[in-house]
Amino acid sequence: MAQVMLKDLNRKFDEVHAVKDVNLLIRDKEFIVLVGPSGCGKSTTLRMVAGLEDITSGEIYLGDQLVNNLPPKDRDMAMVFQNYALYPHMTVYDNMAFGLKMRKFPKADIEKRVSEAATLLGIPDLLKRKPRQLSGGQRQRVAVGRAIVRHPQVFLFDEPLSNLDAKLRVQMRVELKRLHERLETTAIYVTHDQVEAMTLGDRVVIMKDGSVQQVGEPLEVYSRPRNKFVAGFMGSPAMNFMDTTITEAAGRLYAVTTGLRVKVPLERAARLASYKEQSITLGIRPEDLREARGSDAEDLSFDAVVDVVEPLGSEILLDTRVGSQTIVARVDPTVRARLHEKIRLTYVPERLRFFDNQTEEAIV
Ligand code: ATP
Repeated sequence: MAQVMLKDLNRKFDEVHAVKDVNLLIRDKEFIVLVGPSGCGKSTTLRMVAGLEDITSGEIYLGDQLVNNLPPKDRDMAMVFQNYALYPHMTVYDNMAFGLKMRKFPKADIEKRVSEAATLLGIPDLLKRKPRQLSGGQRQRVAVGRAIVRHPQVFLFDEPLSNLDAKLRVQMRVELKRLHERLETTAIYVTHDQVEAMTLGDRVVIMKDGSVQQVGEPLEVYSRPRNKFVAGFMGSPAMNFMDTTITEAAGRLYAVTTGLRVKVPLERAARLASYKEQSITLGIRPEDLREARGSDAEDLSFDAVVDVVEPLGSEILLDTRVGSQTIVARVDPTVRARLHEKIRLTYVPERLRFFDNQTEEAIV
């Protein structure tokens, strides 16, 4: 069984506490993605799993086996690096076969494994080429192929798509997902790209400053972020945050700021009542806003002034101003928004998020 468990994992580099008390159970066959901004400790975590980085404290288990003191080559894990790390003087075949040769696999077995992996990755015609004769996407496939031929218990990916252009990245993302469905090998994948994390991960682990902020299925994390950091990091364009004050009028609670009075949904009222007359952060995702129609309730809509219009074909992003705050709305492409003019926007009350200004935790 190829479950991986990280227990109270820490890594300190002199002053920098790069990984802080990380606890994580990666299930057998699971594709888990570590995501977060640059410097959040995701690569260091992955490298500790691979055995390429010393562990300051804590434990790593592969199945039931404690692997802290096992050298990388004995861990039965295969890593794909961001720069592919191919040997330039070797052919694609030799690059893929190298690890098996070093482990003294029989020649026939090596040939079979390389051929199978090359077919799976659609590169059987490239086996005689050298890396410099390959495109970025092809090199990336070779790097993945080199990991596949080992039939490891766990794949480790360190930003493997970040050197590819945007279109190829999307294509390779789909291929990696398909590959994982076929091979059913446990995979730990590191990226700073939240779209990659959402689309690839069975679960995602969001990290900040060395600590895990939230672990969950992509849509769960997206729709129920535990704190303001996760809410702002997952989603593009990012969630709008506004400083508001909770006020009561005629028995209902509102989150109020200049130019905006948002009705607190009844099911959230009990929890938010303790914040009366206090300031909290209101979060609205751009896609939860749309242009108000005549039939929309007056008290669920507000006026905004259009600052920037970004037509994207399938949708339009509007940067708008409400009082002193900027609100981005992702609206239907048929909306005729004019620069510097007012537009009336409406929101989905159930999707509003509220965050405590002191702790930045979601108020749920
Ligand atoms: P990136 O996406 O930029 O690679 P990351 O989330 O993978 O970022 P890490 O590379 O894990 O982040 O680094 C975490 C922290 O540890 C950073 O502050 C980094 O500067 C520091 N760090 C990493 N390796 C070392 C090292 N060998 N010596 C000193 N500090 C290090």
